Amino acid sequence: MPRNQTIPEVRLAQEEIRRLNVGTLLRHVHLGGSVSRTALAERMRLNRSTIMALTAELTAAGLVREELPADTGRAGRPSLVVRPESDRVYVLAFDVAVDRLVAARVTLGGVMLDRREAVRPRAGADLDRVVEVLARFGRRLHRAAPPASVCVGVGASYCGMIRPGDGMVRFGPDMGWVDQAFGSELGRRLGLGLPVSVGNEAHLGALAEQQRGAGVGFQNLIYLHGDVGVGGGIIVGGKLLDGDGGYGCELGHMVVNPYNGRPCGCGSHGCLEAEVGERALLDAARRPAELSGRDAVRAVVDDAERGDPVAQDALRHVGDWLGIGVANLINLFNPGIVIFGGMLREMYPGAAPQVRARIAANVLPVARERVRLHTSALGDDATLVGAAELGFSELLANPLDVLTRTAPPGARR
Ligand SMILES: [Zn+2]
Repeated sequence: MPRNQTIPEVRLAQEEIRRLNVGTLLRHVHLGGSVSRTALAERMRLNRSTIMALTAELTAAGLVREELPADTGRAGRPSLVVRPESDRVYVLAFDVAVDRLVAARVTLGGVMLDRREAVRPRAGADLDRVVEVLARFGRRLHRAAPPASVCVGVGASYCGMIRPGDGMVRFGPDMGWVDQAFGSELGRRLGLGLPVSVGNEAHLGALAEQQRGAGVGFQNLIYLHGDVGVGGGIIVGGKLLDGDGGYGCELGHMVVNPYNGRPCGCGSHGCLEAEVGERALLDAARRPAELSGRDAVRAVVDDAERGDPVAQDALRHVGDWLGIGVANLINLFNPGIVIFGGMLREMYPGAAPQVRARIAANVLPVARERVRLHTSALGDDATLVGAAELGFSELLANPLDVLTRTAPPGARR
């Protein structure tokens, strides 16, 4: 013991380390689904008896269970596997996109058990309606949960710029939201006594893809999320770049065409999203101005696949601008992978030759050596999965304290 530390201080430090280790072990099991004690010991660089003690604490709390693995095909006594206990705790996850509202109950381990979805009309600022629909979904999901299970968090994804801490939507350009108290209103209307953690949809999509999707194993990743516009999440060295105020990674408003660019929803011209967003594609495909939405985009992609030259040209045109944006991002951040999500997931296959051509022409050779291009593995639920992970973040930081705080007396073991 260092001479200037007292015994109570050392105990406090040991307690803090144990608390961190309990959370880290639960995170491995939550993300891995089923992890052997041996693998946990290796990943956490702890000895097996420490892993056993930590697992025992989580088992007693009902958060994990241990079992023999399926036949390993090897002789000798196999290492027990630790699994998340899916009936014990869950979070509510919400996703507010331009055209839809989604709610889900997600258990430890990331299993989406119950999911509800409603259409969101493009009708301007609509905080009241959005919160009303989501709160109704949330209360139903909560009521339908098994009686002994506990809601330990609420996470929400919103297609706009979110103030960290209180879930205020500072700017949601597509529906004209400015300084709307989304997080606190949703928390109040849900009435569960839990705060709602809110994140930007593309930030959450990036984290979700890194934790559970196409970006697993990558520490440097760029996620582009297409909705009506284009949002972004950049992960560098395993951490999301959220900037000074939490509003970073607005890749969609990177200016790529300042002189002849199309007008953007942000008030500028020639932003990446103005050149590759929904309207840009539909105009390039000569679709009528009143057509909009995911179905209209899908129709262009389908027509291109069937050989329609106008639709193919439209995808090539948009793909070239997308490639210019991606080339800039690769030069700046040297990512291991670039992931195309949301609407871009559908557009990307038809636009890939142009994106690759721009990378070949405009990215410095050493920066493009290893970069992979991939569509989102989590599909349209990437942002919802990210919201669920946000809801789990407190539990994973401090499992036993959060469980004590959130579990009603009848639900405690
Ligand atoms: Zn813009």
